[in-house]
Amino acid sequence: METTLAIIKPDAYKDGNSGKIIDRIISEGFVIKEMKQIHMTKKIAEGFYEVHIDRPFYDELTDFMSSGNCVVLSLERDNAVSKWREVIGATNPEEASDGTIRALYGKNTGNNAVHGSDSPDNGIIESDYFFSEGN
Ligand code: ADP
Ligand code: MG
Repeated sequence: METTLAIIKPDAYKDGNSGKIIDRIISEGFVIKEMKQIHMTKKIAEGFYEVHIDRPFYDELTDFMSSGNCVVLSLERDNAVSKWREVIGATNPEEASDGTIRALYGKNTGNNAVHGSDSPDNGIIESDYFFSEGN
């Protein structure tokens, strides 16, 4: 079993797409190990996306992620990381394959509905960021 972190981002949350995305998570064979609704502070968003600190979109991204409620989920499945990235599609919704979550619900490269971890190690690190004791 592998772990990945999924986030239903503020755009998808505001549009009322959380339920459909959670149904999809279950129908794709993921087990939801942890789930919570949070409104991230700017600081929490900055910490989560620290790897992107030098990118030009870092401030826009962390403003967006702290702009409203998200649903954060720690998911388990075989090949959870690559499977979840396949289900969500490319970062830019216009480039995401038909039927992927970003193609269905994303608006643009920034407001792209969902997050997915990019490696098994990061799946665990990111899940711990939101779900270890005290967080
Ligand atoms: P992914 O979420 O597909 O792993 P990245 O790790 O490259 O993509 O980027 C993290 C998040 O930063 C993206 O999901 C998106 O919300 C935002 N982002 C990435 N590239 C851009 C960009 N060029 N302009 C604005 N936001 C971006
Ligand atoms: Mg990424």
